[in-house]
Amino acid sequence: MGLAATESAAVARPLAGWPPEALIAALQAAGLKPGQARGAVRLALRAWFAGEAQPLAQVSRQATLLLAEAFPEAPPLALVECAPSADGSCRLLWRTHDNLLVEGVIIPSSGGDRTTLCVSSQVGCGRRCAFCETGRLGLVRNLASIEIVQQFQQASAIWQAQRGARPPIRNVVFMGMGEPLDNLGAVGDAIDVLCHAFGPGLAAQRITVSTVGVAQQIPTFFQRTRANLAVSLNAPDDARRLAIMPVHRHCGLAELKRALQAALPPGRDVLVEYVLFGGVNDALQDADLLMEWLRDLPSRLNLIPANPGPDPRLHAPEPQTVRAFQKHLLDAGVRAMVRHPHGRDVGGACGQLAGSRREFEEMRHGA
Ligand code: SF4
Repeated sequence: MGLAATESAAVARPLAGWPPEALIAALQAAGLKPGQARGAVRLALRAWFAGEAQPLAQVSRQATLLLAEAFPEAPPLALVECAPSADGSCRLLWRTHDNLLVEGVIIPSSGGDRTTLCVSSQVGCGRRCAFCETGRLGLVRNLASIEIVQQFQQASAIWQAQRGARPPIRNVVFMGMGEPLDNLGAVGDAIDVLCHAFGPGLAAQRITVSTVGVAQQIPTFFQRTRANLAVSLNAPDDARRLAIMPVHRHCGLAELKRALQAALPPGRDVLVEYVLFGGVNDALQDADLLMEWLRDLPSRLNLIPANPGPDPRLHAPEPQTVRAFQKHLLDAGVRAMVRHPHGRDVGGACGQLAGSRREFEEMRHGA
């Protein structure tokens, strides 16, 4: 069958790692009628997401042979740890087939109206932001689309067993380990699977992909998916952004804004994330600079008091400073929400995973 892998990871790519429409087209190309091909993919994917041991059991013999030959089952991620946090979130730790660790976080909303899963797109990350534990690992490897989809499938099953009356996971944020736009092929395919009616059928608007601002990939992102884009800005001027985010060497603030303005489809906006660091970027003059950058950019703004990270100089401001910064923006008509990272007590705040385990230290030294 004529499908070529788009990700670099050396992982077998079974059924649920492919965009369903590509699977259907491949089955048709191999001789199945359109209705047979759609029916086979629907049955196989529904069984796979339901956790059935033999997802091809109900598929016709001809389709089974084609699917099994082309898409051998990959060994699933193995759950290593499920650590509940005092704030209701739950950190998940998996081991990959090649003995690497991947993290995710289940995050119930404080209002109890939704549950979000924070997923990883890479093992480690090559962007090396100064405030981020994952950045200290360097890039170990990209995750395959199936490994992203499996995070959702396994987290959903775990949450189903413990959620009680709380809603199932219907929101996904790519804010765990890795820079998603550095692995856009696999991330895009995983989003296709998660949004397809034969899979979990998530609304694309309920998926948010967070980037440090890899400008050259932003047009491809908007062509590839209808998911939301979040940009981690974190500084109001070039000098301070460069000091904490090496990606800035390749793309200044003005260029990043131009890239977003040019690529945003009509009617869409971008979520701008601004991590507040005490004494670094939290002055009212910084809020003015931030407002100036946001001008003429369709956007929403999240202010995030920093989580403790590898650099002790980068810490959260006092709560009253956060409130004053937000008020200054709101008074000027800028939509600004304060968001607090979840799972601090189990090292599970998004973007700052990969904290304490000895094995992460070993991965660091091997990177
Ligand atoms: S904040 Fe994101 S992009 Fe930066 S090093 Fe961490 S995981 Fe990578």
